[in-house]
Amino acid sequence: MKIKTIYVEDKIKDHKNTKQIISRINYENLIYCEHYSEIFNPSNQNFRIQKKFPSLILAKKDGNLVHEAPKDFSIGYKNNYYFSHMFNCLYDCKYCYLQGMLNSANYLIFVNYEDFLNKIKKIILKNQDTTCFFSGYDCDSLALEKITRFVEKSINYFEKMNKGILEIRSKSINIEVLKKRKPLPNVIPAFSLNPQFVINNFEDKTPSLLKRLNAISTLQKNEWYVGLRFDPIVWNDSDERYISFFNKVFKTIDIGKVHSVTLGNFRMPSTYLKKISKIRPDNYFIQFENSKRVLNLEKEKKNEKTELCIKQISKFVDKSKIFLN
Ligand code: SF4
Repeated sequence: MKIKTIYVEDKIKDHKNTKQIISRINYENLIYCEHYSEIFNPSNQNFRIQKKFPSLILAKKDGNLVHEAPKDFSIGYKNNYYFSHMFNCLYDCKYCYLQGMLNSANYLIFVNYEDFLNKIKKIILKNQDTTCFFSGYDCDSLALEKITRFVEKSINYFEKMNKGILEIRSKSINIEVLKKRKPLPNVIPAFSLNPQFVINNFEDKTPSLLKRLNAISTLQKNEWYVGLRFDPIVWNDSDERYISFFNKVFKTIDIGKVHSVTLGNFRMPSTYLKKISKIRPDNYFIQFENSKRVLNLEKEKKNEKTELCIKQISKFVDKSKIFLN
């Protein structure tokens, strides 16, 4: 991978993960800094320009490493948590909330993976009921795996613990890390899916639907149970396009090896919507959502469409596996 500039926090310059990540990158400049926030947080940065040529920042995450997931964010387990070992991603989805939440499009990787995994272990041991952890919350879990190797380390950890559930959510078809090993009952690869017209219009730089479906089929042939994430559903005028999309998905993959299905409507705090409208004025999806938010439209329509999706999906998958996020 080629990246022009890598910033490294002084305190982790000798960390083994830092050295390994740097060794996998073709870079021009290596700059040390005291704290990642000096580079990542200033508000006078241009997110769109950085998105074209992102730098990489390697840092240590302190404080709260693992968070309780929002209520209703579940794939059927009682306790739900998420964590972000990385911020930002290779892709450039028009609906991505990171553009509203962050000031910088640079990749920020927290290299103290072991601290994340130790915290996860403590939570698993504390909770009596099964606990699920969502990775890829503020990034894409697999897209940068070739340089981070975070997923590989996490899978090894979960295999050893044989407890807790790890969901690896992604739009990436970079599935080598999963393909090369035996499936684990407590690791769920999960793919975000949308019809190709949505991918073309709103999911810039992401793999096509066909490629994602092929990745799912490959893993299922290797006995992995895979999660399907229809999130966000992006409505258009015609129900037919989503109906034929669901038909295509479930006719291509192995419906006997679906772990769970989630459905989610587009959701974003108004402050993020406003910010993205400014920095990405050509982003008609966000402009449209922003105007609807102002007018408080579409709530009923969304519920109606969600019902339609559930009806279609439950033709293929038992309703007990379908969750609304
Ligand atoms: S894949 Fe996810 S994190 Fe990456 S740009 Fe799209 S929505 Fe954002």
